[in-house]
Amino acid sequence: YESSGAPDYYNIDDLLTEEHILIRQTLRDFVKREISPNIEQWAQDAHFPSEIVKKFGDVGAFGPTIPAEYGGGGLDYISYGIIMQEIERGDSGMRSTASVQGSLVMYPIYAYGSEEQRKKFLPKLASGEWLGCFGLTEPDHGSNPGGMTTNIKDMGDHYLLNGAKMWISNSPECQVAVVWAKNEEGRIKGLIVERGMEGFTTPEIHNKWSLRASCTGELVFDNVKVPKENLLPNVEGLRGPLGCLDSARYGIAWGAIGVAIDCYESARKYAMERIQFDKPIGAFQLTQKKLAEMLTEITKAQLLAWRLGTLKNEGKATTQQISMAKRNNVDMALHIAREARQIHGGMGITGEYPIMRHMMNLESVITYEGTHDIHLLITGADITGIPAFK
Ligand code: FAD
Repeated sequence: YESSGAPDYYNIDDLLTEEHILIRQTLRDFVKREISPNIEQWAQDAHFPSEIVKKFGDVGAFGPTIPAEYGGGGLDYISYGIIMQEIERGDSGMRSTASVQGSLVMYPIYAYGSEEQRKKFLPKLASGEWLGCFGLTEPDHGSNPGGMTTNIKDMGDHYLLNGAKMWISNSPECQVAVVWAKNEEGRIKGLIVERGMEGFTTPEIHNKWSLRASCTGELVFDNVKVPKENLLPNVEGLRGPLGCLDSARYGIAWGAIGVAIDCYESARKYAMERIQFDKPIGAFQLTQKKLAEMLTEITKAQLLAWRLGTLKNEGKATTQQISMAKRNNVDMALHIAREARQIHGGMGITGEYPIMRHMMNLESVITYEGTHDIHLLITGADITGIPAFK
């Protein structure tokens, strides 16, 4: 069941096209070559490898679903999911860099931007010449982004932007930030803020124990003059940022499978090699239970992600369906990482194996782009018609 280097217990590969398989192999080779040999050191050193940005651009990891005329891949959503899966199999921080750029920066510029904005920004973001970030969360407004206080004032020929954003992936290295702010009527608008605009700074957040190879920071706006042509003209209200998050969360649902596969593969191999009581530890029932449950959960998550991808391709996937898949698959991966760590015994806490790094990374993934509990409440609201989080 493992012809392609990853578990495929239900022959889900039969549901993929030749192009999907080719894309997967290309990304798998890329990750093996460019990420896996270095990721442990980058994470230990809390180093963001800025040279990876151009390489991601070259391999087509940025904006795979954006049409080719703007530099994107023009691919379907299953391809996008597969790309996220393979990158996250390497590291969730690396996947964060790619999914922020594609889903949270390129997508809003493509979906809500003017033709001039698309032409100016998308090709450079697709190629990796520029790195982008997405500023929604604020120090006092995380799960409740609608409470944001970052604001713009119309000054006639430009907007004056004030406020601060917190926990922003890619911020310290970004050239471009898609920022959500309230106008004088209290309506949420999207703006493209560019590095070099006076009063715009991006202080880095240090000492993370999670996503250590991804750079995270603040966005600080102190009377930043943003030209009027940098306002995203075609969206207003929370549906702007939430529309981007739908796309990114969909990618996370696939990415989490990548982490789970990496932990499972490592645990399976270790279980067959590690001898205790004169037997491989894989011979003990309790180890087999762990491995069997891992494979079962990976298979269920693969089916969820694949079906969601077909719904996305048809334009039918709902926010609530995406919430369910993001929540389930990240939780599944975190659980597998913890079980895999146990199978590795003491070795499981070292950088010799990817497990502990994956586990710590997932502690961010389970919180960002909507926390585990908020996604549960989104499902609860869908079932009952009563939103319990408001
Ligand atoms: P809070 O909203 O304060 O939540 C704290 C706890 O309270 C959670 O368990 C939550 O589930 C619970 N809670 C809150 N409200 C309710 C409720 N109504 N009912 C029940 N429980 C509730 N944001 C961006 O905009 N751009 C980024 O690029 C980005 N990257 C990130 C990278 C990292 C490494 C991290 C850690 C975060 C990133 N975020 C980013 C922010 C992330 O999306 C937020 O951390 C997340 O939305 C949660 O917000 P919070 O941390 O303020 O937690």
